[in-house]
Amino acid sequence: MVSGWNLPSSLKVGAARDLACLPLAWLQRLDAEGLTVAVLQEGQSLADTDVLPTMTPERCRRHVVQAQALARAAIDEENRALSLDPSAPADDFASAMARRWLPDRIRENLLPRLDQAGIGFSVEVCREPVDLKALARSKQIPDEEFSTWRDLLLELNGPLLKVSGDLAQAAQEILMVPYAFHRGRAVSEVSRDNYATFDSMKVRQHRGIHSWPNRLIMVHEAFVKEPADEVGNYRVLVHELGHAMDYLAEDLLPGHRATVDGLFAADLEAARRGEVRFLTPRSADNPREYLAEAVEAYMTRRVGDEQDFYKPENSREDLQQRNPPLFEYVRSLFES
Ligand SMILES: [Zn+2]
Repeated sequence: MVSGWNLPSSLKVGAARDLACLPLAWLQRLDAEGLTVAVLQEGQSLADTDVLPTMTPERCRRHVVQAQALARAAIDEENRALSLDPSAPADDFASAMARRWLPDRIRENLLPRLDQAGIGFSVEVCREPVDLKALARSKQIPDEEFSTWRDLLLELNGPLLKVSGDLAQAAQEILMVPYAFHRGRAVSEVSRDNYATFDSMKVRQHRGIHSWPNRLIMVHEAFVKEPADEVGNYRVLVHELGHAMDYLAEDLLPGHRATVDGLFAADLEAARRGEVRFLTPRSADNPREYLAEAVEAYMTRRVGDEQDFYKPENSREDLQQRNPPLFEYVRSLFES
């Protein structure tokens, strides 16, 4: 559940301790859902963690067969569209331009098809012959992997590629590339580039990032330390786990969404009358932040040292005293 084969053990302990705030039943549910908690170290991006899947030979071979069919469909579709274009025969210049941009159109057509099939191969437009050795270097393929990678690339592009020695000419000026290397691992270049957009600097700015569609929580190493940089005793990860519980409860517990939304609406109404039950400004943002903050408060006790400075009022005591219905609901959630 915690991604971090490359994490120092002190950070693993910190993350594990924060996770242990949740009852075992909830941890098991979240684990079964495939939730991953990635702790990013300074200077790392998500692509440097084991969240980025390694391209195994079996996975590649399976995807090659699918990708060939998808490429044929995209090429046929764009060629057909070009030949049906009524403006093509009338104007030589327009026709020449349309032909020139055909490979780009094929690429734009093919990429979403691959993406939808979960195939992370990259697609490149190559108007000139390609030196496969140079291409391999640009993908950081190690020398000892070159012939495996070359064989797979030839198989993938099949008759669309004319090869002489290490020089390849793509018949439709379109070349599919099966994988690249990143820090010694075969990975999808497309995924790597996406994952690299989540870097430690961005995650640190947001403290924690939760993405339920990806079943992913990201947190910067500074916030699993105890006390944490900038936030002391406050546990970022517990808040993010609160979000994950909220989303999962929506699927598992029929009344969950309506209950939380109802409690939030009532508290918002009370705040308008001057009775503030929100323990933090963020909990008043929306029902999702409301519940994440409440889960955090439920699991937080003030230590009483100088590290209680961040959100000191978001504690179990305060929640119980100032918002008994919400406290009771979070308790029932923890016990469910
Ligand atoms: Zn949040």
